[in-house]
Amino acid sequence: MNLVGRSVKRFAGETPIGRKRRARKMAKVLAETHPDAHCELDFTTPLELAVATILSAQTTDVRVNQVTPTLFKRYVSAADYAAADRTEMEELLRPTGFFRAKTDSLIKLGQTLVDKHDGVLPAKLPDLVALPGIGRKTANVILGNAFGVPGITVDTHFRRLTNRFGWVQEEDPVKIEFLVADLIEKRDWTMLSHRVIFHGRRVCHARKPACGACTLAAMCPSYGAGPTEAPAAAKLLKGPRARDLAAAAGVDPDLVPVAAVTTPEAP
Ligand code: SF4
Repeated sequence: MNLVGRSVKRFAGETPIGRKRRARKMAKVLAETHPDAHCELDFTTPLELAVATILSAQTTDVRVNQVTPTLFKRYVSAADYAAADRTEMEELLRPTGFFRAKTDSLIKLGQTLVDKHDGVLPAKLPDLVALPGIGRKTANVILGNAFGVPGITVDTHFRRLTNRFGWVQEEDPVKIEFLVADLIEKRDWTMLSHRVIFHGRRVCHARKPACGACTLAAMCPSYGAGPTEAPAAAKLLKGPRARDLAAAAGVDPDLVPVAAVTTPEAP
């Protein structure tokens, strides 16, 4: 039996209460591991966050943050988006990819906000998901980060990691959201989402997770999905805190190559 098999077996008889306890312990370790976790999109108002989140589809937050300073200066209110010149906005959004569809979404978003919500972004999930370009994931990002309403954001990292953690065995984002909501206290939902996403970008990569340099190794049924030897695992850590991440996992930070610290994480 390989390492993952052994690890999975160790958690095989876990009760629902045991899983909840383990999930909360893992959430605590994630909080210690990623004290810098935050929403990586730049914004100053709920409308700006809604716009940035729509633009973040199929691109990186870094790329969105390069485009939004000019965009937010040009378009301040919902009415500005509603009245936007399509060609001009498309040019501004071009670097984010899918710029025609994104322009369409932003203009329609502005029009709907003006027509139905007096130009103000609503703060309730059902109202948000009824807006053009805003799905459940985007709505939860907006609720959690612009309105302070706890929300779980199930993106590709969150889905992969919660399955690896053995918190869920599920691919459907909405089902994952409800299952995790049952494991983790509501007040922690928003920050948990950021921390899991940070862990996915910096440690628990899709192809080669850095199991041997992971602070969650002792509690993770998927330990062994990636290299478990410290030198090989340390090379996989990414982001500006890669050395701190190694140290937190009890691995010599000098094993982390310089390039790892400067390499951008996965989108
Ligand atoms: S890196 Fe490995 S041990 Fe850590 S959470 Fe991912 S699969 Fe589990």
